Amino acid sequence: MTPAPDVPVVVLSGPSGSGKTTVVSRLLKESPVKLVKSISATTRPPRPIETDGEDYYFLSTEEFEARRQAGEFLECAEVHKSGYWYGTLLSEVQRASDEGGWALLEIDVEGALNVMKRYPRTVSIFLSTPPEEYERRLRARGTEDEAVIRRRLQTAERELTFVDRYRYQVVNERLDDAVREICNILESVERSD
Ligand code: 5GP
Repeated sequence: MTPAPDVPVVVLSGPSGSGKTTVVSRLLKESPVKLVKSISATTRPPRPIETDGEDYYFLSTEEFEARRQAGEFLECAEVHKSGYWYGTLLSEVQRASDEGGWALLEIDVEGALNVMKRYPRTVSIFLSTPPEEYERRLRARGTEDEAVIRRRLQTAERELTFVDRYRYQVVNERLDDAVREICNILESVERSD
């Protein structure tokens, strides 16, 4: 089933190290509008702390491709030139709507631009960080090797050139302020609907 084109979708993008994941978990608790996190599908193997069906749907390359061919994705992309595919299933947007909430998608820039094309009412938010912070946070995470870190920093630089395509830009210098700012955005969008 394809969700209606006017379903509310919130897209949050930002380079690795921009603090997206932390912001998302705070928003799920604090947003004035009910948000339902879309669980993406990926061909990347799970990290030790990740759970299938919670963090991602971990799919084999073959299954991902079969579902892509079947038109099950709202968008999908090979992210960070990693060789791994990531995508948002249409059924996730529908699930959010069925649960009476807005779908919250934490996805890369390419995916976000595709979602904006398909759902013109998308509330698109780009989260950035003072540049020196990216590298520090990426390294502090300690889950990636040097080559992966370098590639992610390059991607971050490229992604920053797309900032203007987003309806809202938020700088995550202080977490509380960034979360509050996004909550205010969501509240004003809801009021203007
Ligand atoms: P990670 O492997 O660190 O979990 O995620 C890597 C990147 O994939 C992140 O920048 C994230 O925004 C992006 N990503 C996660 N899910 C999706 C998705 O469904 N679609 C797209 N296009 N990108 C995604």
